Amino acid sequence: MHVMNDDTIVAISTALGEGAIAVIRVSGKRSLEVADQVFRGKVKPSKVAANTAHFGKIVTNENEPVDQVILTVLKGPKSYTGEDTVEISCHGGIQTTRAILDVVLQTGTRQAEPGEFTKRAFLNGKLDLSQAEAVADMISAKTKKSQKAYLAQLNGSLANEVRRIRNSLLDMCSRIELQLDFPDEGLEISSSAELLSSVEEARRSIVNFVDSYGSSKIVRDGFSICIAGPPNVGKSSLFNALIRSDRAIVSEVPGTTRDFIEESIQIEGILFRLFDTAGIRSSSDPVEAMGISRSAGIAAESDAICLVCEEGYLGETEVPVVSTQRLFVHNKIDLTGMSPRRELINGNEHVFLSAKTEVGIGLLKSAFLDVAVSAIGEHSESIPVTSSRHFSIFMDALAAINSGISSLKNHAPMEFVSMDIRAAANKLGEITGEVTTEEVLNNIFSKFCIGK
Ligand code: GDP
Repeated sequence: MHVMNDDTIVAISTALGEGAIAVIRVSGKRSLEVADQVFRGKVKPSKVAANTAHFGKIVTNENEPVDQVILTVLKGPKSYTGEDTVEISCHGGIQTTRAILDVVLQTGTRQAEPGEFTKRAFLNGKLDLSQAEAVADMISAKTKKSQKAYLAQLNGSLANEVRRIRNSLLDMCSRIELQLDFPDEGLEISSSAELLSSVEEARRSIVNFVDSYGSSKIVRDGFSICIAGPPNVGKSSLFNALIRSDRAIVSEVPGTTRDFIEESIQIEGILFRLFDTAGIRSSSDPVEAMGISRSAGIAAESDAICLVCEEGYLGETEVPVVSTQRLFVHNKIDLTGMSPRRELINGNEHVFLSAKTEVGIGLLKSAFLDVAVSAIGEHSESIPVTSSRHFSIFMDALAAINSGISSLKNHAPMEFVSMDIRAAANKLGEITGEVTTEEVLNNIFSKFCIGK
């Protein structure tokens, strides 16, 4: 990345394509001067009040009009980046948008790099690092639930809680260090027992974050369900019925092999990744056997297995070896004239349905939902850790805290205890960006889209 904050940057901030409007964003010291050069309206952009919008047109160097636009003038520090910013809302469409970008680039501005507006916002103290990351995650959020988690992060709830723990750790360090620096003063600032209880409290908070990662992974990446069972029971029919019933198919995963197909559906804002596998049974054909063993692997890695059998033949279904959560589907009830129903038998969900007539598919979806919600579990109300970067930071901080606690319990010299607690505090600072390196920043912001 370039040295920042000196130059003025520009990018198209809306998705490229045909749309009613598009926005070109300019940020940096020269933004208003640039606007004066390219914009013709009733007043000069550099003379208008902050946070105002103006109708006019964009013109080329030769004064040729390019488009009619609304120009919004935001003056630093009260803008997204914290710098002077102008946003040009023009008619949507690739040609117009590109033409305006070119005109602005000719005034000596530079095309912004991915995430550079947000990086500037971070460097100017408008957002902390966890909030900046939430911006990128919000953009790529696939479901309502994950969008909500990112919004909470964007609002600073994660950052606030992390800061609270970090400050309490730093406070403990200062107290220990004060005692070490002035041993003769008889300062008994806090007893070991008090210190231990404070460190343990911080540890519990970190453990809560670590624990929330598993469930938030489901919120972010979806709950995977493998549809398994012997051949001809109707697995593929069921898979197709489930997909058909979904109004918003999220994605079709490319490169699927013949052994299994993956599709995603949404139920009440939770993403479900469904796998249709080859028939799970023993086979003497080596190629088929390979497919079968691979599908057993998928079954083992899934969050739940949906075992399909024909109504009345459950006993003959070969159940894969794994301890994953199971749901049982008794298919083809249309053949026996049975009504659809959902029942708990020995703690497992059993759904009686017909994949062919789609009677009972709704019951199966509600069973999927309940199984996923119970897997997401009690952490759903607390602040979830959604980022793998944050998770690994929490793990490192936890290791440092654990070492500090064992030093305290073993009456090791207080220097060691303080070192461990400080290491944990520094680690936590990497979440909010209070402690960071250029490399970490580049890594985070390079994953953004251009214009954000
Ligand atoms: P798979 O081998 O388990 O994937 O099974 P398929 O989905 O290919 O279905 C096997 C056969 O059962 C096909 O002829 C389907 O039309 C039929 N089938 C699937 N579901 C039902 C159902 O609910 N009722 C009836 N009557 N037939 C079904």
